Amino acid sequence: MDPSAPITQDVMTFPRKEMPSDKINLVGLTRDALRQTLIDNGTPEKQAKMRAGQIWQWIYQWGVRDFAEMTNLAKDYRAMLAEKFEVRVPEVVSKQVSEDGTRKYLVRIDGGHEVEVVYIPEEGRGTLCVSSQVGCTLTCSFCHTGTQKLVRNLTAGEIVGQVMMARDDLNEWPERGAPKDETRLLSNIVLMGMGEPLYNFENVRDAMKIVMDAEGIQLGRRRITLSTSGVVPEIHRTAQEIGCLLAVSFHATTDETRDVLVPINKKWNIEKLLEALREYPKATNSERITFEYVMLKDVNDTDEDAHRLVKLLDGIPAKVNLIPFNEWPGAPYQRSSNNRIRAFATILMQAGYASPIRTPRGEDIMAACGQLKSATERARKSRKEILKEAGQAI
Ligand code: SAH
Ligand code: SF4
Repeated sequence: MDPSAPITQDVMTFPRKEMPSDKINLVGLTRDALRQTLIDNGTPEKQAKMRAGQIWQWIYQWGVRDFAEMTNLAKDYRAMLAEKFEVRVPEVVSKQVSEDGTRKYLVRIDGGHEVEVVYIPEEGRGTLCVSSQVGCTLTCSFCHTGTQKLVRNLTAGEIVGQVMMARDDLNEWPERGAPKDETRLLSNIVLMGMGEPLYNFENVRDAMKIVMDAEGIQLGRRRITLSTSGVVPEIHRTAQEIGCLLAVSFHATTDETRDVLVPINKKWNIEKLLEALREYPKATNSERITFEYVMLKDVNDTDEDAHRLVKLLDGIPAKVNLIPFNEWPGAPYQRSSNNRIRAFATILMQAGYASPIRTPRGEDIMAACGQLKSATERARKSRKEILKEAGQAI
């Protein structure tokens, strides 16, 4: 085989390790919580701030997992840390690499639950799509994740742990003593994986604070985009307490249609949502809000929709991200034609809105928007079925 050929459907499966552990995982603790945890476990109060700072840097700046490597700490202190604590990130169960370079990881978290994380390489940057919940309580009718019941919220450690896991896989922790490398394979984060991040606000916030920390992973707040279906009461807090960029799953231009596509609209309708969004850029002094708009054939894709959208956006610094619908087995919708999507985009552009059409990435490995997780379950079920049919024991 040509060694330069792209890797297609390269599935690696890693053996699952059962690691019941009574150690305290330090990943995901805020700086204050880390300090307090050290004090609670015998570190003298006077030293705790400094020790927490040192451990923090080892974990988040250098990617060190083993306390023995934390060489600016005394040997017996390191031994004490190793006895009581651990630095643990979600375990990679499988990794698939798409022909376009997109990587999809299935990671396992405590309780045996699994979530998906997607890495999307692009020219000059790379975006990690992070999950915030196992499943989702909301039931957007076009979203595959929405067909799956919520199992639980992820902890802050499991959220920042996804970023650390990806840095491991990309081999991107900085080398100590080496000149700082400004080009990053993992340069951006989007909270667009499984789940509604604003229904897990505190954990998402704490995780992003760690990601943004100047002595940690050091991604600026403008490199993080949080996507919400429209949890209005939490939007202001997002501005105040995280300050990242915001994307909103808009998807329709009338309440009638949005009630069906994004049922949270019944609670907070378009008018209420827009009101909250108007305040957001002022509060964060940030750029435009991204309006995500999935293109569904004959549902929300007419010229009238485009014109209505332009009217609704009036007064909001916005760009529209048109997402061709990613089909999944049993989905009740179809993708709008390319011509329709282009015509829709043209109307928005003529009104002065940037409206890029999102190229689906990683479709061959079901890693595209709205295809996450349930697909994995399905694949597993059908493998089971296949084995059954073949008369083999499972
Ligand atoms: N729960 C959050 C974030 C995750 S979804 C939210 O809804 O915003 C990330 C984006 O993918 C959302 O805009 C979502 O509406 C969109 N999406 C979901 N299913 C899709 C599908 N089948 N095709 C295209 N986009 C989809
Ligand atoms: Fe949940 Fe977002 Fe999917 Fe809606 S689009 S079901 S909020 S993950």
